[in-house]
Amino acid sequence: LHLDTPLAAGQAAGLSGDQAHYLRGVLRQAPGDRLLVFNEAGGEWLAEIATLTKSGGTVAVLERTRPPAPCPDVWLLFAPLKGGRTEYVVEKATELGVARLCPVLTRRGDVPRVNLDRLRANAVEAAEQCERLSVPVVDPLADLDDVLDAWPDNPATRDRPLFVAAETGAAQPLAAAVTAATAAGGKAAFLVGPEGGLHPGELDRLAKTPFVVPVGLGPRILRADTAAFVVLALWQALAGD
Ligand code: SAM
Repeated sequence: LHLDTPLAAGQAAGLSGDQAHYLRGVLRQAPGDRLLVFNEAGGEWLAEIATLTKSGGTVAVLERTRPPAPCPDVWLLFAPLKGGRTEYVVEKATELGVARLCPVLTRRGDVPRVNLDRLRANAVEAAEQCERLSVPVVDPLADLDDVLDAWPDNPATRDRPLFVAAETGAAQPLAAAVTAATAAGGKAAFLVGPEGGLHPGELDRLAKTPFVVPVGLGPRILRADTAAFVVLALWQALAGD
């Protein structure tokens, strides 16, 4: 279970109403039962349920079972997709170790808003399910042009290459780009376009942007969600984390 509070032996930590409902109603747990709790700073801890009601509860934190483990410093910029596939991207990208998810508005994107609370809940659930000790940050939806404008001035992005999955034009093979980025310190961001593809105006701007590296994902046109999983899976395979 992911807890936002600091974790230390002997500490009591609160449970939200949703967490209490999940433990009582779904897992049929009760005071005295034990479970694993985690967060990025504290790692994973064995804990015991102290109180559990319909509206919340508390656990007593007992002993650490795993130290904190940083995730790979890889971000995914993606255009929100229709029909539940945005949530699917968040779930699968979390399983594949992504550090930050940045939904972006693109000219041909056909989903103009996201439910940020739901996406953040999807990320927490996926982190719990796959037993990673950190939950990726999920950013609010932002305009791609604004993200690119801010990139060189933001300390978190200014030395981060942005690999743009582009099925046309001059692009280097993904594996070569990932190998170079892992050798150069392991920071990266990937941008995958919407189902309709990136607009020629966006591709033109990206081609002239110094921190952008276009990458190709092979000879077939992949669905946008597939493209996101391919870049992250290859990163995991080559970087080993
Ligand atoms: N523009 C395309 C079209 O309508 O023919 C489709 C775009 S594709 C479904 C969605 C996104 O996935 C693209 O914008 C690109 O970022 C990525 N993508 C899909 N296949 C790719 C490939 N073979 N190489 C690089 N990127 C790819």
